[in-house]
Amino acid sequence: MRRTPRLFPNEDATNGWSRILPPRAPSPALKGDIKADWLVIGAGFAGLSAARRLAENRPGERIVLVDAHEVGEGASGRNSGFAIDLPHNVGGEFGELSGSQRYMRLSRAAIASLEEIVTKRGIACNWRRVGKYHACSALLGRRKVLDPFAKELDALGEPYRWVEGAALARELGTAYFHSALHTPGCVLVNPAALVRGLAASMPPNVTLHERTRITALEDGATVKATTPDGNITAKGAILAVNGWARSFGVFKGRIVTLAGYGSLSRPLTEDEHQSIGAVQDWGLTPANAFTGVTMRYTPDRRILVRHHFAYAPQFTRPADEPARVRAGHERILHERFPTLKSVNIEHSWRGFLCFSRNSAPGFGRVGSNLFAAVCQNGVGVTKGTIGGLLAADLATGCDNPLIADMESLGTPNALPPGPFLDLSVRARLALENIRWRAER
Ligand SMILES: Cc1cc2nc3c(=O)[nH]c(=O)nc-3n(C[C@H](O)[C@H](O)[C@H](O)COP(=O)(O)OP(=O)(O)OC[C@H]3O[C@@H](n4cnc5c(N)ncnc54)[C@H](O)[C@@H]3O)c2cc1C
Repeated sequence: MRRTPRLFPNEDATNGWSRILPPRAPSPALKGDIKADWLVIGAGFAGLSAARRLAENRPGERIVLVDAHEVGEGASGRNSGFAIDLPHNVGGEFGELSGSQRYMRLSRAAIASLEEIVTKRGIACNWRRVGKYHACSALLGRRKVLDPFAKELDALGEPYRWVEGAALARELGTAYFHSALHTPGCVLVNPAALVRGLAASMPPNVTLHERTRITALEDGATVKATTPDGNITAKGAILAVNGWARSFGVFKGRIVTLAGYGSLSRPLTEDEHQSIGAVQDWGLTPANAFTGVTMRYTPDRRILVRHHFAYAPQFTRPADEPARVRAGHERILHERFPTLKSVNIEHSWRGFLCFSRNSAPGFGRVGSNLFAAVCQNGVGVTKGTIGGLLAADLATGCDNPLIADMESLGTPNALPPGPFLDLSVRARLALENIRWRAER
C-alpha cells in the first residue's frame, strides 16, 4: 500500500525546555538512497524506544531512524516532563482494577527502561523520582476525583499520602490549593534533555537522520520510503509519528489531535526562592487534566505552567493564540504565587497531542511489514516509551508478556465523521470547561 502524508510537523523554535539547554547540532538529513533492515519514523519517546529495542533485539541489523524535525523539538521535548506510573483515574470495579494493574505494569516498565538508560549513559536531564501531587483547588475536585482516587489506590494497595491546607502550602510554597494526594512513583525530568540524551546514546547499529520527512511510504514485501533528498528501503518499519499517523492513513477516523501549551518562568532569585519557603522541586497535576493547570517548580527554580488544550485537526491554531495563552499563563503564575508578581514567563510554546475516544493506544501491526506505536493519550513519556519498545518486540517476533498487557488496552474506536467530529470535540472541550470552572 502506498501512503502519501500531506500534513507535516512544522514546530517553531519556542520550546523552553530546549532553549534552556546548550545549543545542539542535529544529525545530518538523509541524502541519497540507502538500504536498511528496519526504518523507524519519528524520533520522540516512541520512535527512540522502538529504534533502541530493534537494535538490541537484532544487533547484527541496521536500523535507520528519521524525524522531520530536530530531536527534542517535537511533543516529546515539549511536554511537562512527568513520567507517570499510575493511571490518571483508576477504576473501582474488580475488572477495572485489573486493567489498572496492567496499565501500571506498562508504565513502570517504561520508567524502569528510561531510568536504566539515564543511569548507564549518565544523561543529564534532572531525572528526579520525587512523585507528584494530584491536586484540587476546590471541593469539586476533591469530591469528584481525589476521594475516589484515594479509595481506588487503597484497593490497589498503592502508597499515597494526603497533604492538605497549611501542610500543602508549606510543601508547595503556595496556599492556592485545597488538598492533594501525593503518590511517590512519578519521575520529573527536563523532557528535551532526556530526549536528546536518548538520541545521543543509541546503539551503534542505529543511524539517525533529522530534518528528514517521509513524504511517501510503500509497505508490501519490503518497505520503501521517500524523503525529499533520498529513499530508504527496509524489510520492515515502525511508525512512531503521533497524530501524524492519520496522514499516513493509519488509525484514520480513530484519533484526534489537540494543541497543548506550556510555559516556563525565569529562574527565581535566591530571595524569591526564600519567599516561597525555599521549597524542594515538585510537580502537580490537576484534578481535571483537560481544564486544569499542571504546574512544576523545577530544580533550577523555574515555575512551569501547562494550561489550555485546543482542537487542532490540521495541526494549526489561530496566529494570536500563543500570545493570549502566554499572558494567561503569567496570570495563573501570579494568582498562585502573589509574592512573585515580578517573575515573568520566559518561554512559552505549543505541542500536539494525540487522543482516541476510548483512550486506547494506536499500537500493533498496521500493514504487511508496518507496525505502529502512536496515540499516547497525553501520557507519552511512559506510554510512548513502552509502545515503541513493544512494537519493536512485536516486529522482531520477540516474546514479551507485556505485549498482551498492551493489547488489552484495546485499539482506538471509530470516531464520528468529519463535521460531526469537529462539533463533538469542540463541544466536549467547552462543556468540560464549564463543568470544571470551579477548579482552576
Ligand atoms: C504541553 C504538553 C504537555 C505534556 N505533558 C506531558 C507530561 O507531563 N507527561 C507525559 O507523559 N506526556 C505529556 N504530554 C504528551 C506527550 O508529550 C506526548 O504524548 C508524547 O510526546 C508523544 O510521543 P511520541 O513519540 O508518540 O510522539 P512525538 O513526540 O510527537 O514524536 C513524533 C515525531 O514524528 C515526527 N514526524 C511526524 N511526521 C513525520 C514524517 N512525515 N516524517 C518524519 N517524521 C515525522 C515528528 O517530527 C515528531 O518528532 C504533553 C504534551 C504537551 C504538548
